[in-house]
Amino acid sequence: MKGDEHMGRSNVTKSELERRKDKIKPSRVTKEDLIKKAKDIDSNVPKKVARSRPYKNKAHKHDIIYDIISTGSKGNCVIINDTMVDIGVSYKVVKDKLDLISTLLITHIHSDHVRASTLSTIKKKHPHITIIGNYEVHQHFGVDIVSNHDYPVKVGRRVYHPFKGEHSVEVQGFIWEMHGKDIIYATDTSTLEHSPDDKKYDYLFIEANYDEKKTNEMMKQKTGNYNPYLSAMRHLSKQKCKLFYYTHRKEKDSKLIELHQSGRFYWTKFQLRM
Ligand SMILES: [Zn+2]
Ligand SMILES: [Zn+2]
Repeated sequence: MKGDEHMGRSNVTKSELERRKDKIKPSRVTKEDLIKKAKDIDSNVPKKVARSRPYKNKAHKHDIIYDIISTGSKGNCVIINDTMVDIGVSYKVVKDKLDLISTLLITHIHSDHVRASTLSTIKKKHPHITIIGNYEVHQHFGVDIVSNHDYPVKVGRRVYHPFKGEHSVEVQGFIWEMHGKDIIYATDTSTLEHSPDDKKYDYLFIEANYDEKKTNEMMKQKTGNYNPYLSAMRHLSKQKCKLFYYTHRKEKDSKLIELHQSGRFYWTKFQLRM
């Protein structure tokens, strides 16, 4: 008995082994081959991305893109392209969006519109953002530019026009133009009478806090010390919001974005604070 057979080896001839070696021998890959392969992979992958990008860029370039992060007494923060209005939410909620923001407008000092901890984190981590607010906001939280009613504020090529509102504290609405569209933003004000009379808008971000009819009903049934008119006096009704829209929209398809709705207009202790 031969040793090889004892080991269980199959009876393969030498020439067969050579043939097999040739088969498993790696093919000669030249540097040019590798470059070509890399180029092939390269040209395959980005094509898909490249197809979707121009559409996205186009949309961002010409349209008004807005994102209502939060509105109402639970917290307010709205993004309109590169402008953020109010920061009454946690940093965690907005942190991924801040790189694209250039300006932060703060309407007033109430805690549902500005959260001190979020604002100070933004100042530290996103110093490129210009923060604008009235003197009260500046006294409490510090801003980059103090905005006075009816005095335009310039940030780069953009001009924001602050106007006075009526609330339990100093409040401002803002008007500005973006990609040829006129925008107005106003919340926490019982009236819009201090906004320019003759101006028309494409996008109206307006508070529609309560229903006048419901409030009147509540007043009739009122028991105890709470007074629904107290809250109503500090906010804009749905009816006033609609009236402003119909008298100040530029075109029939101008967009109304109703803000700070209380949903159920109950005169709770919580709501009376706002
Ligand atoms: Zn509010
Ligand atoms: Zn308020």
